[in-house]
Parts: sequence; C-alpha cells; structure tokens
Amino acid sequence: MNGKLYLCATPIGNLSDISDRLRETLSSVDIIAAEDTRRTLKLLNHLGIKKQMISYYEHNKREKGTELLKILHDGKDIALVSDAGTPAISDPGEDLVALCAENGIDVVPVPGCVAAICALIVSGLPTGRFSFEGFLSVNKRSRGERLEEIKNDQRTLIFYEAPHKLRTTLRDMLETFGNRRIALCRELTKLHEEIIRTDLEKAQTLYSEEKPPKGEFVLVIEGASEDGLKEEINCSVRERYEYFLSQGDDEKTAMKKVAQERGVSKRDIYAEIKID
Ligand code: SAM
Repeated sequence: MNGKLYLCATPIGNLSDISDRLRETLSSVDIIAAEDTRRTLKLLNHLGIKKQMISYYEHNKREKGTELLKILHDGKDIALVSDAGTPAISDPGEDLVALCAENGIDVVPVPGCVAAICALIVSGLPTGRFSFEGFLSVNKRSRGERLEEIKNDQRTLIFYEAPHKLRTTLRDMLETFGNRRIALCRELTKLHEEIIRTDLEKAQTLYSEEKPPKGEFVLVIEGASEDGLKEEINCSVRERYEYFLSQGDDEKTAMKKVAQERGVSKRDIYAEIKID
C-alpha cells in the first residue's frame, strides 16, 4: 500500500500555535520533507521529536520530488513542512502535491496558519471576496502587467512581499491602482506584530531610506471601487489607449488592455482608434 503525504502547517511566529495534530503527525510519519531543515530541526527539538529529514526546496524540487514519490510508493508516510505556515502556499509544496495527485498518492491536510489569511482577518477590509496574489514578479515589466491585469478587481487583494522590495511595490501599486486603503501586516503572531491600516499614499511616506522596512509583510489592499471603474470606462477609447501608451505599453498591448477592460475584441478597438 502507498504511504500518505501529510501537509503540515507550522507556526508563522508564535510556537503556541502548534496544534496537537501537528505534534502527532510529525511523531508518527516515517520521514519529514522540509523546506529549511535547520528551521524544522529547531521545531522538532522544541517538540522533542527525532526524525529523518529530507530537504525539499525550490532548487532541488524536481529530483527530490521523484525521490519522495518513490518513498511514498514504498509505503512510507511523509510530512511536508515549509519554512513557516502552510505548505503549498507560495512555496514548492504545490509541485509535490501535484506530483502526488498525478500518481494516486493520498494527500492529507494538517491545517494551521496561513500568513495571508491571518492578515486578511485583521485588515479591517472586506473579507467576503478576496484574491490571493502571492509574490509579485521581480521583473518590472511582468510586475506592471500583473498589477494592470488586477487593478479593476473589486475583491480585496492580498500580497506577500519581502521588506527590501516593499517600497518599490508600494510605489508601483499607487501608480497603477491610484490611492486605496491598505493594511500592512508585519511580523504576524510574533513579538513585534504590527498592523498599520492606512492608504497607499501614506504608506509610501512611512518607510524612507533612513527607516527601511524590516520583517515579514503581508499587504492587504482594498479592491477597485465601482466609481473608479465607471470613470475609466467613461473616458474615450483613444484616451484609454493613449494612457496605456504613456505607461510604456506598445500599441498592441495598449489595444489589448482597452479591449479587455471593455469586454470587446482587439479588432473593435483597432477600428475605433483608426476612425478617431
Ligand atoms: N507558506 C507560507 C504561508 O502559509 O503563509 C508563506 C510562505 S512565503 C515563502 C513567505 C511570505 O509569507 C513572507 O515573505 C511574508 O510575505 C509572508 N509571511 C510569512 N510569515 C509571516 C509573518 N509572521 N508575518 C507577516 N508575513 C508573513
């Protein structure tokens, strides 16, 4: 019989968030696959558990995935533990789960903290509908394209961000979204937990060269307002097209974006711009 893969959520800061089930699962499995073995060793020492570990992280996930699959086929149970929080959320766990799903291995959730959800619930922003965006690309162009794509989304938006990229990200968001409410959720569940509820403009001035952001951040941002959307749609096709050109898009991309916004084909937009 095949073994099972247990996705074990670990605390994102506060060790008191360890559940009985996490403790039991880590004790009972045959092997622990860990994104950061040193960090997981500290957790195991805290729990008084000794267990064989195999490192499984972004840069070895392909070969280690095959190795872990073989172990599961041999009938052994594996617990997957990420750096912190829930495996498969913005970490390579996603690939291992897909591999198991394709190969008939049972995957069992052992739930706990997800930084994104902790941030959402304390943000004070609407929680009914939200979109988890994870990390934005480090590539300026792809980041800009992604922000453009989601700027009309009316759901609350959640992003992960590293402190050294925070200021650039806030600047890009303000440029693309305009001013909106934001909750900057820092060091959640840790000693220096901080939740700053402000707007994108003020958030920019919070962190300067002299006071760079520190710690781990989740950004929760208000979705697009209906009024904002109406304003955009009310301007002419040419105005919107020229706006996108002014933002550095080439003609083809600018036409595509206007077409997407208005729910019409690129050909219609082309025809209108030519006639104008
Ligand atoms: N799997 C994790 C989860 O369940 O949330 C996320 C892993 S992702 C590689 C790491 C990112 O999560 C960090 O860059 C930060 O944006 C966010 N994060 C993790 N712990 C956090 C904390 N204690 N406070 C705020 N953000 C945190």
